[in-house]
Amino acid sequence: MLEIKNLHARVAEEGTEILKGVDLTVQDGEVAAIMGPNGSGKSTLSYILSGRDDYEVTEGDILYNGESILEMDPAERAASGVFLAFQYPLEIPGVATMTFLKTAMNAQRKARGEAELMTPEFIRRVKASAAELKIDMEMLKRPLNVGFSGGEKKRAEILQMALLEPKLCVMDETDSGLDIDALKIVADGVNALRSAERSFLVITHYQRLLDYIVPDTVHVLYKGRIIKSGTKDLALQLENEGYAQIIGEAA
Ligand code: ADP
Ligand code: MG
Ligand code: MG
Repeated sequence: MLEIKNLHARVAEEGTEILKGVDLTVQDGEVAAIMGPNGSGKSTLSYILSGRDDYEVTEGDILYNGESILEMDPAERAASGVFLAFQYPLEIPGVATMTFLKTAMNAQRKARGEAELMTPEFIRRVKASAAELKIDMEMLKRPLNVGFSGGEKKRAEILQMALLEPKLCVMDETDSGLDIDALKIVADGVNALRSAERSFLVITHYQRLLDYIVPDTVHVLYKGRIIKSGTKDLALQLENEGYAQIIGEAA
């Protein structure tokens, strides 16, 4: 599904290198967790996967289903099935969440050469996914993310993910700002989307989320490099020992 090879990247206008040779392979159906202390480059990696143009790849490649996506813009990547759930979801005043969802779904369907979704079918899908994520339909009449609580924003991100049916789901610290009940709801929603054809990059600072979304692999990102990879036991080790031990070993 995804092969990141010796990826070096920097902030386009500023020039500081943030990713310094990331190597990572994610198989079809795999749930890979990326952990790491603040400032490691986790969000940067997620932005670069989604194609944000204020970051610049200076070396290496990103292969998605065997083909480089470096030349693809964010819309093309989304149309081909890459989805990013943001660490800090943007508020979009003046655009009702329902309108946003319908526009996004139909834009993606168009890019895939599929017919536009008619309103009754759209509503049916939104209701089903919203119920699963315990999202009140009233909330979806409000402008996207405006006045939503931290937990509601994260649930709205997962709702978008469920409706857009991506192949590669990148979730950047979806657990931050969630209380334990909301965390379980989000995890259930994500687990329901797991399949042999869909892969996940679950980015998190804490192991807690991984009690509910159990990953196949765990990778530690530190100062722009993967310094250790393992199974879910690595997340437990981090929980017990903190990052200092593993950083020390890597040095
Ligand atoms: P993480 O998500 O792991 O906390 P980030 O990817 O947000 O890490 O940041 C990695 C490093 O890159 C940090 O030192 C951060 O300050 C720097 N950085 C990220 N984006 C920018 C930017 N747009 N301009 C300047 N520095 C940035
Ligand atoms: Mg951070
Ligand atoms: Mg981050």
